[in-house]
Amino acid sequence: MSIPLANWIKEKQQSAPFFGANSAWLEQYYDLYLQDPQAVTPELQQLFKQFDGEQPDVRHQPVIEQFIAAGQLPAGGGLSGDADHAMKQAAVLRLINSYRLRGHQKADLDPINYSKRPDTPDLTLSFHGLSETDLNTRFNTGSLVTDTPEMSLADIVDRLERVYCRHIGVEYMHITDIEKREWLQQRLEKPAGEFGFSDDAKKQMLKKLTQAEGMERYLHTKYVGQKRFSLEGGDALIPQMDALIGHLGKHQVKEIVFGMAHRGRLNMLINILGKSPADLFDEFEGSDESLDNVNSGDVKYHKGYSSDVPGAHGPVHLAMAFNPSHLEIINPVVLGSVRARQVRRDDQNKNQVVPVLIHGDASFEGQGVIMELFNMARVEGFDVGGTIHVVVNNQIGFTTTHALDKKGGLYCTEVAKMVQAPIFHVNGDDPEAVVFATQVAADYRQRFDIDVVIDLVCYRKHGHNEADEPSATQPKMYKIIKKHPTPREIYSQKLIENGVIDSSYAEQLMNDYRDSLDDKQHIVEFADENNDQFVVDWPPHLDGDLREKVDTTISEEQFKKYAEIITDLPDDIKPHPRVKSINDNRIKMMRDEIPMDWGFAETLAYASILDDGYQIRLDGQDSQRGTFFHRHAVIHTTDSAKNYTPLERLETDSNKIDIINSVLSELAVLGFEYGYATAEPNALVIWEAQFGDFANGAQVVIDQFISSGEAKWGRLSGLVMFLPHGFEGQGPEHSSARLERFLQLCAVNNMQVCMPSTPAQTFHMIRRQMLRKARKPLIVMTPKSLLRHKEAVSTKQQLTQGGFQLVIPDRKVTNKAVERIILCSGKVYYDLMKRINENDIKNIAVIRIEQLYPFPRPELTAELDKFTNAKEVIWCQEEPINQGAWFQIRHHLQHCVADRFPLYYAGRKGSPSPAVGSYQVHVKEQNQLIEDAIHGNHGSAIDAE
Ligand code: AMP
Repeated sequence: MSIPLANWIKEKQQSAPFFGANSAWLEQYYDLYLQDPQAVTPELQQLFKQFDGEQPDVRHQPVIEQFIAAGQLPAGGGLSGDADHAMKQAAVLRLINSYRLRGHQKADLDPINYSKRPDTPDLTLSFHGLSETDLNTRFNTGSLVTDTPEMSLADIVDRLERVYCRHIGVEYMHITDIEKREWLQQRLEKPAGEFGFSDDAKKQMLKKLTQAEGMERYLHTKYVGQKRFSLEGGDALIPQMDALIGHLGKHQVKEIVFGMAHRGRLNMLINILGKSPADLFDEFEGSDESLDNVNSGDVKYHKGYSSDVPGAHGPVHLAMAFNPSHLEIINPVVLGSVRARQVRRDDQNKNQVVPVLIHGDASFEGQGVIMELFNMARVEGFDVGGTIHVVVNNQIGFTTTHALDKKGGLYCTEVAKMVQAPIFHVNGDDPEAVVFATQVAADYRQRFDIDVVIDLVCYRKHGHNEADEPSATQPKMYKIIKKHPTPREIYSQKLIENGVIDSSYAEQLMNDYRDSLDDKQHIVEFADENNDQFVVDWPPHLDGDLREKVDTTISEEQFKKYAEIITDLPDDIKPHPRVKSINDNRIKMMRDEIPMDWGFAETLAYASILDDGYQIRLDGQDSQRGTFFHRHAVIHTTDSAKNYTPLERLETDSNKIDIINSVLSELAVLGFEYGYATAEPNALVIWEAQFGDFANGAQVVIDQFISSGEAKWGRLSGLVMFLPHGFEGQGPEHSSARLERFLQLCAVNNMQVCMPSTPAQTFHMIRRQMLRKARKPLIVMTPKSLLRHKEAVSTKQQLTQGGFQLVIPDRKVTNKAVERIILCSGKVYYDLMKRINENDIKNIAVIRIEQLYPFPRPELTAELDKFTNAKEVIWCQEEPINQGAWFQIRHHLQHCVADRFPLYYAGRKGSPSPAVGSYQVHVKEQNQLIEDAIHGNHGSAIDAE
């Protein structure tokens, strides 16, 4: 059945393969099909057949050519010689364009010639109406960057082949900005495929290739069968990184932060970052370091390293981030770390600290975090001025090859086009092409502040790890690989043939390298000294004590100063009436006319932290306003797009505040904030979830970094997570932040889990997080309905006196009268008190546990000691019995209660889902658990379980 072409185009434009830059490609094929249907693949024939209507479509190409020629037709018709030349001239320009657009598909990229390449008929003369007889004709070269404005067609084609179809295939025509495209054309077309490296530069590349191969061979024979995730096949990564560091040094870059997968990591650590071979060998041999659960350590191919190497303008600091097995998750962490370093240096152009991310091909196209990363690349709160991405593309993901199963698109790098990054596909057997492309990419990043991608097309000599047998699943590919000479062998042969070295030179390089490893010498030359003023002083934060007593109060004067700054809006800021009323209330709170609410106390905490000299970065979904309309840290004026952040008035050169409405991601954003916090101990970094359950989307970051980063790698982080939590009838997802999961991750004081129940508690908790020396993650179950609860309020005195209470005692009861003690955390306290006050109950004490980890055993025990006549203790929670704190803290409760009283549970029954969907059922359940707690109906929920 035929369909109208216009409709078809409209429909297909919604789908990626037919969108944007691809349309030119599609049109060329359609034209070819009209001339000869057999000239295109059967799939395309089938596709184009749909347009066959009653009237056959006409070829576009000749029509276009006739139009061009028409202006030059002499009276009387017929093509003159000039017109014929003009037609051909137009064809030549189209040919040039085709090379720019599609030369990468013809380029010689795959060292083992394994992958099937697409046809490129549009890179033939005949496709454009030219023929071999035109080869000697001279044509204008148009925008092709050449030394002369005219060249023979043969020379033009030769130049295009050399630039676009040899060992670099570059995709850049999807970039809409003409300046960027022309910049790239200058850099790529001008040298005409001649990279112009000096003999010394070539020898340096060979040296680094020798190190890459030498290192793997050494480990292969010394530690037979041990996992090392060999780089072999992708050896060019080492000369590439060596050249990149040198090149960035020339750009006055001061720090480079690397994120990297397993493959080749040991090689990078030794040959690029300068880790001591002795240390690595110890790790292979199993060191006698005594590890415990506090410092549990990690496998050698996850470890990071830092060093300082000499650069053209002083030392360049290199930092390889520690990473877990979920490899690509390191990327946002690195970017967060880079952003923190840029802020520290006041690097406004973002050109002094550069992220380099080294990916695997299968994960680059398969993992969603990569898309999230690109989405954040140009967003103000996360921009790092561009990332240099390198994909070590060995054309296989564990056992799965691109051709068979991965199938994302022609290349594994398609996703990078969402930020219009230029993509350089490079043949990994040609180190000069790799280094050239890398230098152009780095210059582009420094010039245009945007991501660049280098797709290092290579192969993997061994299996996924060295114990694996790749031929079992990829026999054809591995038959080719077994016979293929190494990149070092290929390059040294080339240098010998070109007279750059003689044959003994290459051999000597290898022998020297092996000797260095035998002698356990450092392979990399370090800078004499890095007396950079921006080195962070971490030691004061090591061995931080979570029980350190700090004064978190502020003086009356400070209170007044901060409150005035927060509430005093400039005349030209006219907030929405609801926001104005919140601000007016804050003025009354300042004057002690009404009690203080959550939003005001929290904002006062930020003001005081800033004024103490710390940086603040509060980032989350709608954090400027606050999901529940309580914060309004950024105030919008209603009559213009202007907004105002009162806290900025407390900024100085060093203490900045950034309150960011984040992109709608959890995984990459939380990773980014963790990275920021691990690089900046003097910043209060808070990630806020819109609802607590949103953290589920970032579980990898919570498990593999936040809770365990210190134990595995000794990397501290004072990151704060604000997770709205509380059962208010909002259904299964928006009720619970999964408190139980956080508590399950707690051990050996790795982090803190708090559920503050008053504004003053929040104030002191936030201040405590910065004023103590310890830098440990703080997980906060933050309130929703309590933000406006008339009982959940505080006074000015509660900020100017006291501090964060781990346990809040019941102040109203007479101790002797108490027969039942209820323990709880968070919002349920107010539900319990409502019932107690309504019924004027005098024999129940309610004690709030405000910090659930580290659990305040001494404080709770001391509180329980007061009630000598009590007969039982009840833990009351809103969550189902299998969730919430109960199973995670029962042993602590039991310890405090000891054998003085029986301990019971009052809460919801066990449930696979966090909460019910029906509001009515929610209310019924909530009433029941309050009843159970107050009347001591213990056991009912457990029985029902
Ligand atoms: P970097 O700038 O990441 O290379 O860090 C330099 C040095 O600071 C590291 O070698 C560590 O000794 C220390 N360091 C960096 N980050 C942390 C952290 N999050 N926790 C503890 N020490 C750190």
